[in-house]
Amino acid sequence: MVTKNLGFGLMRLPMAGEAVDIAACCEMTDRFLAAGGTYFDTALMYCGKQSEAAVGEFLTSRYPRDAFTVATKLHSGFFQTLEDRDTVFAAQLERTGVEYFDYYLLHAIDRNCYGKYTDLDCFEWLKGKKAEGKVRHVGFSYHDSADFLDRVLTEHPEMEFVQLQLNYLDWESEDVQSRRCYEVARKHNKPVIVMEPVKGGTLATLPEQAEAIFRAAHPDWTPASWALRFVMELPGVLTVLSGMSNFAQMEDNLFTVTDPVLLSEEDHARIRQVAAILRGQESIPCTGCAYCVTDCPMSIPIPRCFALYNEDQQIYGGAGKDWDASVWTPASTYYDNLIKENNGASACIACGACMEACPQHLEIPDLLKTVAHRFEG
Ligand code: SF4
Ligand code: SF4
Repeated sequence: MVTKNLGFGLMRLPMAGEAVDIAACCEMTDRFLAAGGTYFDTALMYCGKQSEAAVGEFLTSRYPRDAFTVATKLHSGFFQTLEDRDTVFAAQLERTGVEYFDYYLLHAIDRNCYGKYTDLDCFEWLKGKKAEGKVRHVGFSYHDSADFLDRVLTEHPEMEFVQLQLNYLDWESEDVQSRRCYEVARKHNKPVIVMEPVKGGTLATLPEQAEAIFRAAHPDWTPASWALRFVMELPGVLTVLSGMSNFAQMEDNLFTVTDPVLLSEEDHARIRQVAAILRGQESIPCTGCAYCVTDCPMSIPIPRCFALYNEDQQIYGGAGKDWDASVWTPASTYYDNLIKENNGASACIACGACMEACPQHLEIPDLLKTVAHRFEG
């Protein structure tokens, strides 16, 4: 029996046009709670800043307070003064419709924003919220090296948990350092909440060669199920967040967490094989969080550009393949559709504003040049 807890990540909620599809969220929430799930993870910036208010509609106004746990976050981009922190927090309570948060996180700590969180005394502030009973558990989400995580946890032992980007593709990544960050959290005895277990959906749709490896071993497991199992079985994992966008994804995840079959040594070898295949392809390690979009003066739909490029590479590409705009693929059609109503990758003026916000530390202007070369010529 897989005993790890599945968390409902609310970053990629189903949408009806520009608005969160509340009816679909209600249906998914009912199913999730009935299946024994409790953990809901939101943030101010998710779903075009609609996610927290949606929680109030589909969850907290419909269920008693002891039926669920809610996590939300303070992001360094949304406060400038000591007073701002309380203003943001009070608005979050009001929007979500709760009197306290079960989990509250300083959002996306890395070496760029850590100074702001410490200069504005956010760690002490968070302890104060806990003492007031407005927060039950305090922690932070994290996007930087393992060494820097060691420093943060050493300087702030009062943090009760850490939220890390863990998945089998980033496990040995030089940039994300999933394995090493996980080991640092374990060293500090901090429970881990896993984010991006399916890497923003990248591990849900695999190239045929990779998917065949999984299918041959367990025909009834989807690629996303393999990705979830990889992190769920790690010791010390409190919750695995899955950003479920529809009912089918939820059913697949619930099947995974209730399936008594565990990964064997041979399965782990298959996962390493698939990771090697994926690493051999020229994909952009964008998780689709869309943090970069807010400050882009050209309003470029950056994650959508990268997702289409990755799709192209994963399905039709291969290591070192240098296609230009003369080559048609389904993704190139979708890209053409996208830039009918938006600026394309070539509109980037290399101002660098997006890079400040990117938790994956991507060289976005350079990558957009690659995307523009591929799709726009
Ligand atoms: S560097 Fe390019 S993509 Fe990034 S914010 Fe500036 S214009 Fe937008
Ligand atoms: S480029 Fe970075 S900030 Fe933008 S969506 Fe991708 S991972 Fe998120």
